[in-house]
Amino acid sequence: MCGIVGYAGNVETACGKPLEVCLQGLQRLEYRGYDSAGVALTAPGMDHVEVRKKAGRLANLIEDVERNPMPMATVGIGHTRWATHGRPSVANAHPHTSCDGRIAIVHNGIIENFAELREELEARGHHFKSETDTEVFAHLIEEAYAQSEGGAG
Ligand code: GLU
Repeated sequence: MCGIVGYAGNVETACGKPLEVCLQGLQRLEYRGYDSAGVALTAPGMDHVEVRKKAGRLANLIEDVERNPMPMATVGIGHTRWATHGRPSVANAHPHTSCDGRIAIVHNGIIENFAELREELEARGHHFKSETDTEVFAHLIEEAYAQSEGGAG
């Protein structure tokens, strides 16, 4: 179980709204997972997705974001985690990212065959940063995206 929120509204210029909406949404959804909380933000022109995550309660993330502001954005995603695969920690907190940092994902549930998928992805050169089942998605999407761009990456 976890809490997931996303914002992709009618914002043409990067601003603080995606982060604000994500944090407000996570406050309402915090009961769905107290192990960690995280957000990811991006905007046209950024070469990566900016991720911030903290172990423990959502308050830890909010405090961190207030102390060290995040970039303005046009879209955002957020997550509160109830761990199933991998202990509660910053490394295992969502969002999880692809090798190139251009894809960030949050996930609710369990990927039953993640061990096989991870082994295959590692054999193809992907580096994992967490113990979660979820992270395989970030790398699988990275491969699919590279193929759709004409084999780049
Ligand atoms: N299986 C994922 C994890 O352990 C998602 C858990 C959840 O739904 O919060 O990170």
